[in-house]
Amino acid sequence: MSTITGSCLCGRVSFECKNDFHSFHLCHCKQCQKITGSAHASNLFTQVGNIKWLKGEALLKRYNMPERFFSKNFCTECGSSMPYETQSGKALIVPAGCLDQSPSIEPQDNIFCTEKASWYASAIKAPSFDRFP
Ligand SMILES: [Zn+2]
Ligand SMILES: [Zn+2]
Repeated sequence: MSTITGSCLCGRVSFECKNDFHSFHLCHCKQCQKITGSAHASNLFTQVGNIKWLKGEALLKRYNMPERFFSKNFCTECGSSMPYETQSGKALIVPAGCLDQSPSIEPQDNIFCTEKASWYASAIKAPSFDRFP
């Protein structure tokens, strides 16, 4: 099993884990929109304990939403989302965008689609450019 690394934007936090993910969900719920500032979260799931922090673990801060099993772990310097164990303790969630290489699996589904951002359908049909047009 190969290993994969991940890091935050400022580079102060980094980790490695086995490239062994069992699910990959794009979550469009309102909470994921708020916490990512974007249309959806891109969450990979792996075994609890499949993580080795290489540096910066002390810079991490975790937020647990009181009403729901919903959390975010982030670098307090740059705000990037970092991996965390679910509150149920059943899985480790790795935000796909923090990985430095490609994960072992592709996204499997889009979930909580009834809560999708009103502009998402237009976003995926919008023209693409390699940089600012
Ligand atoms: Zn950072
Ligand atoms: Zn969500």
